[in-house]
Amino acid sequence: MRRSEISTLLFETPWPELRQYAVRVLEREKGSHVFVRGLVEFSNLCWRNCRYCGLRGENRALVRYTLSQAQILKAASVAVDAGVDTIVLQSGEYTIDPLWLAQIIDAIRSSHRVPITLSVGEQPEVAYALWKEAGAVRFLLKHETSDRSLYAALHPGHNLQERLDCLKKLAKLKYECGSGFMIGLPGQHPESLVDDILLARRLRVSMCGAGPFIPQENTPLGRSESGSVPMALRVLAVLRIVLPWANIPATTALATLDAECGQRDGLLAGANVLMPGFTPMGFREHYRIYDNKNRVDMAGVQAAIEEAGRTHALKPLWKTQSTLPKALASA
Ligand code: SF4
Repeated sequence: MRRSEISTLLFETPWPELRQYAVRVLEREKGSHVFVRGLVEFSNLCWRNCRYCGLRGENRALVRYTLSQAQILKAASVAVDAGVDTIVLQSGEYTIDPLWLAQIIDAIRSSHRVPITLSVGEQPEVAYALWKEAGAVRFLLKHETSDRSLYAALHPGHNLQERLDCLKKLAKLKYECGSGFMIGLPGQHPESLVDDILLARRLRVSMCGAGPFIPQENTPLGRSESGSVPMALRVLAVLRIVLPWANIPATTALATLDAECGQRDGLLAGANVLMPGFTPMGFREHYRIYDNKNRVDMAGVQAAIEEAGRTHALKPLWKTQSTLPKALASA
């Protein structure tokens, strides 16, 4: 599909027609199952200063935390008992002891029949390799925007190429890579959303998360307008059509701007993944990437799946044996 065709779909095709097209592709490529990924936000430490994010290092108003290994394993266990099919371990970007996280990955993988996804930002290649060896299979690293100047303006001291190089390293290590971007970022030209979709296709990502921008009050963009829910749904539908193989989440940001219907409408637009949170009480409120974050729980997930007329994916049979040398596998 050419750029002009994607642009027409995104900005001109009437919504009922676009949605029906996306649903036809979804049914053909993915069937009715919805994957449920359990999110454990294990640390809100971050050394970067992304201008839109409440976890930015310069945000002194945020209470910082890092869960212990035992707390992370407990949260993962609760998520598995609740029926998730994957554990997503997420944090800000900070100096993570590679062995510490490898032990956690190994312990979760050895105790539960679930694959593990990491979302911990740009890290040394040697750490990526160790975590892969420990059993992590997927890695989420959103490109956020394909507009190089906007990327540089929003991420002081960083550039888009570093991000893309990281995704290449992860692919070389045979991670299933996920990327994604925001809709309605201050300074974003609407046409650059077409480039975001094309970049995700060029990267052949296995997962692509696209959600509306939401401001966080303690950031330089704290007074900006949120992104539009209808445009976010259009982007999901076009992603489904252009990346038919990809797993596409109905994001928490969507569920935050439209608490009642965001998850369901995301599924109806072509998404096939939901991500309920399992970060323990007492910590989850400090993972404030943006304000008023909706805590998507399993009840909400089940309701959205039912209302959208879809089914929950079966849990995959997964390797349960430790691959780490015994001396390392102590978590
Ligand atoms: S977006 Fe990620 S890397 Fe940027 S400040 Fe937030 S947590 Fe850190």
